[in-house]
Amino acid sequence: PTFKSLGIIDPLLEALEQMNYKKPTEIQAEVLPHALEGRDIIGVAETGSGKTAAFALPILQKLWEEPRSLFACVLAPTRELAYQISQQFESLGSAIGVRCVVIVGGTEKVAQAVALAKKPHIVVATPGRLNDHLESTKGFSLRGLKYLVLDEADRLLDMDFGPVIDKILKVIPKERNTFLFSATMTTKVAKLQRASLSNPVRVEV
Ligand code: AMP
Repeated sequence: PTFKSLGIIDPLLEALEQMNYKKPTEIQAEVLPHALEGRDIIGVAETGSGKTAAFALPILQKLWEEPRSLFACVLAPTRELAYQISQQFESLGSAIGVRCVVIVGGTEKVAQAVALAKKPHIVVATPGRLNDHLESTKGFSLRGLKYLVLDEADRLLDMDFGPVIDKILKVIPKERNTFLFSATMTTKVAKLQRASLSNPVRVEV
């Protein structure tokens, strides 16, 4: 397939061309049609498979159709991964003017609160610091969230982010889409999956 035949819209196709992504990777080809149909997704895929674009493209496409702030939140296990994910959203979404912020530990909370107050479209975060802001930053909530991504879920749980993710799940809308990606499917991941996804499509590459 091509990105076009999978249903990707022109402004995103332009960005893909600029980034020299000539054709979809296997995980992208499998995920995109279901995600664009509005399904929840479990993706069993490693880093290097192109999983980031597999979840970023459908989110950006839906954002373009229904622009609003604090549209999607991506939870990642490490700061480095959070920055990489945000960069991909910004590159892929350059033609639609997407605004992302990265919310991770080890950096100024006040500056982050200011960035959140500007109502970005996408928040990419490590769970602990995001939960800090949800609990203590005045005026910030994810009550209008449409998409949640749990990236590298096995690593998130290995790093003991389970309890904090449970807290976050309690304060975001139940009516949303969720994408969970993991390199491995452990018992813990299956439990998180049951707590966070509804009637998901499972894609394995
Ligand atoms: P990821 O698995 O999301 O970390 O992506 C691995 C690398 O593949 C990243 O450097 C991406 O920029 C790149 N990439 C993702 N999708 C494609 C594609 N369809 N064509 C070429 N490169 C890609």
